[in-house]
Amino acid sequence: MVCKKCLENPAITLPNSNISLCKSCFFKYFERKVFKTIKDYKLIEQGEHIGVACSGGKDSTSVLYLIKKFSEKRKNITITALAVDEGIKGYRDTSLESLKKFCDKEKIPLHILSYKESFGKDLDSIVKKFPRPCSICGVFRRYLLNKGSKNLGFTKLATGHNLDDEAQSIMMNQFRSNMKVSARLGPITGIVKNKNFIPRIKPLYFLMEKEVAAYAFLKGFIDKYSECPHTNTSYRGNVRDFLYDFEAKFPGTKHNIVLSFLEILPLLKKNQEYKGSLNECEACGEPCSQKICQACTYVETVVKKI
Ligand code: SF4
Ligand SMILES: [Zn+2]
Ligand SMILES: [Zn+2]
Repeated sequence: MVCKKCLENPAITLPNSNISLCKSCFFKYFERKVFKTIKDYKLIEQGEHIGVACSGGKDSTSVLYLIKKFSEKRKNITITALAVDEGIKGYRDTSLESLKKFCDKEKIPLHILSYKESFGKDLDSIVKKFPRPCSICGVFRRYLLNKGSKNLGFTKLATGHNLDDEAQSIMMNQFRSNMKVSARLGPITGIVKNKNFIPRIKPLYFLMEKEVAAYAFLKGFIDKYSECPHTNTSYRGNVRDFLYDFEAKFPGTKHNIVLSFLEILPLLKKNQEYKGSLNECEACGEPCSQKICQACTYVETVVKKI
């Protein structure tokens, strides 16, 4: 078998097809797809300060590299990396080391916010007393990314979400009958503009996890795959495994979930009921739908009791 484009030795066979590509043709295919998503959905425009939510993993490192590459051909786009250190020994400490090296090499400024400094305890301490680490961890991460983005003056925050992640989110919201949350999904998040909430953009939206992993490995961004030790305890982890099995039996399933969702997304975004109203947390000023945000609630009810 040879590369479909240039007859070189193939490096990858694309998921859901029999198309094999060599390394260089795969890079072109991958980057063209990311840049097309950025242009089609107007994810990045002139004069913007784009923050990139980074973990040191394959997805966010690829996004960071590609947004830098995208901005090099344009004027007036500033890029800053923003990472969250949950405090998960043996996992996040090593991925943040790789991220620091990458940002040094690419000359991209990096800011790291930690749970310990921001909330008083790291996740390793919290998990000893609180059996559902992902629920608290997700709330704390979203909180710090939004607050950090505002403090650093970002106009948008790019994340490494790929097509598999989006398919999982869509199905999780279906299973939980949570269409209000689904209305905020898509390549650019949010329904209404709110100065207190920095929009998230997902340049890898149309690329499958396998493709992103191949890109990151072939580019030499990461040399080993590591996963948070708590992944399998999460609801998302269960949906991920379910979709993995289904995709193996019926290739194309995840693509179809995302494509059909994009057809109904404009209708969801128009639904007045889903727009809701964003308040400011009475304790910290961050956006929330109640009087006190979920992060402040977790600090009071969980963290301070440890
Ligand atoms: S898997 Fe759960 S605990 Fe681990 S980083 Fe993700 S949300 Fe946090
Ligand atoms: Zn080729
Ligand atoms: Zn709060």
